[in-house]
Formats: sequence, C-alpha cells, structure tokens
Amino acid sequence: MIDLHTHTTCSDGTDSPFALVKKALATGVTTLAITDHDSTAGWQEAITAIQPQIELVLGAEISCLTDDGISVHMLGLLFDGENKQMQQMLSDSRDTRIPRMRKMVELMQADGIAITLEDVYAATPAGATVGRPHLADALVARGIVKHRDEAFVELLSNGSKYYVTHAAPTPVDAIGVIRASGGVAVIAHPFASRRGETISAATFSDLVIAGLNGIEVQHRDQNMEEQKTLTSIAQELNLAITGSSDYHGTGKLNAMAENTTHPAQWEALEAQANARRVVRV
Ligand code: AMP
Ligand code: ZN
Ligand code: FE
Ligand code: FE
Repeated sequence: MIDLHTHTTCSDGTDSPFALVKKALATGVTTLAITDHDSTAGWQEAITAIQPQIELVLGAEISCLTDDGISVHMLGLLFDGENKQMQQMLSDSRDTRIPRMRKMVELMQADGIAITLEDVYAATPAGATVGRPHLADALVARGIVKHRDEAFVELLSNGSKYYVTHAAPTPVDAIGVIRASGGVAVIAHPFASRRGETISAATFSDLVIAGLNGIEVQHRDQNMEEQKTLTSIAQELNLAITGSSDYHGTGKLNAMAENTTHPAQWEALEAQANARRVVRV
C-alpha cells in the first residue's frame, strides 16, 4: 500500500515522525510519504524508524496562494532537502504564519473569546509549523469548543470572520522550486470544495507548463464527482494520479491508508524526480 500524504508533530499531526512510520508499518503501508506543512523537520527522525518492509518518501506540503487569493496545497516529494531555495521558501512561509496567528487571536479577543497567543504556543509542539489546528487545540484546552472539528466548523473555516491568510508562494512558484530542487510536484486535494474556494479546471494547464507532475485525486475531502473530473483532467494532461490519507494522527478522522496510490502511478511519478531518493534500510 502506498500512502503519499501524511502529517506529524512537525506540523499539525499528533504522531511523532517515529510513531508515524511505526503506524504505517502496523497498517501495512509499504511506501509512505511524510509531508508536513512547510517543513522538512521530521525527515531525520522518520528515517530512523524505517524497517525493510517499508520505504520512505521525504516531502512537504507547501501552502500556496494564487494571485486571486485561492488557497492551494502543493505536495513536493523527493526533492533535495539541502536545496537553499527550497529551505528559504519553507522558512519564509513558517515565518509569516506567526503574525497571521497573532491576527487571528486578536480578532477573537476583540469578540470576547478568551484565548491568547501563549495558549496557541502551549498547544504547538516544539519546532512545529504553527497552524489553525494548534489554535483549535488551544480553544479546546480553554473549554471554548469540544474538539478540533468543532473549532473548524464554528470559528476557523476559510469563510470565518476570524480567518486570516498568510503570505505564500503561488502554485507556479512552488512547483518551480520543487522541480528545481529535483523533486516532483503533486497538487493536493485541488477540488476539496468543502474547504473553500478551489481553482478552476482551466488552471491546470498553467501548472503543467510550470512542471506539475501529478494530481491527488482520491482524498476524503473530494466527492466522487470531483474525483471523476480530476481523473479526466489528469488523463488529458498526462499527469500521475495519487490517492492518499492526509493522516494527522488523532487530529483528524482520516485513517492511515484510507486512500492509496496505484503502484503504476507511483512508479511513473517517482521516475520524474532527478535522482532516486526513496529511502530504504
Ligand atoms: P493552516 O495551514 O494554518 O491554514 O491550517 C490548515 C490545516 O487545518 C489543514 O492542513 C488541515 O489539515 C487542517 N484542518 C482543516 N479542517 C480541519 C478540521 N475540520 N479538523 C481538523 N483539522 C482541519
Ligand atoms: Zn494539516
Ligand atoms: Fe492540505
Ligand atoms: Fe495535508
């Protein structure tokens, strides 16, 4: 089983990178990608946990914004982690998340919600990319909501009055950096309409010109209709099709390997990296 999209405590997942790999082994995953938001901090620890039954794909899920302000997540897989341009892009993104989080907290405070930036930091594992799920956890700790999901429904969705975006590369720029650092670019859950506004079908050809390699089709936030349309787009543009869990530990309902990628699709994708970077023991 191939699962190409998972998170750890290096962003908003609840399993450590070590625990993530152990969970994948227990689930029967044979190819696992670690894709924390805007970070490669979990790579080294994840490598220490691999066994002969599993191979590891090192990656990151890069937060992007289109020129029209639409949020897009770009999975970068198999890039050179030492690449300066890549690490600069990731650290710029993490940096802008701090004033963004401050603004979200201030908007809530102005509305009488008893939450502080310190509460959010207390809910954020050391070194993790700070995001809305940590704000959600802080709201849970304060007894304001019962769980992460309720926090998102009531207060944190993209349409909420407390939602603030942060500066981020465009999808085209992110693809450029992923490819320049030798990796492959797969657009994550592009039609997940329940999360907010999504890019149009016409946008994909521009992404292909930029170097896009694949589309995440099988993902729980995309309904069957959305998956069908994406499959047609992928076939038309000769892009690899991936399926994945977007596992976040107990931070989300998504179960490890609830969606998987077909081996032939993974093979086609992996062949487009500029070096063989899958990690095995
Ligand atoms: P951010 O990157 O700070 O804008 O936060 C976005 C993250 O919030 C995404 O990676 C999602 O995994 C997570 N998220 C979105 N909706 C929910 C939800 N209902 N419950 C838990 N996490 C969510
Ligand atoms: Zn996440
Ligand atoms: Fe995502
Ligand atoms: Fe994700």
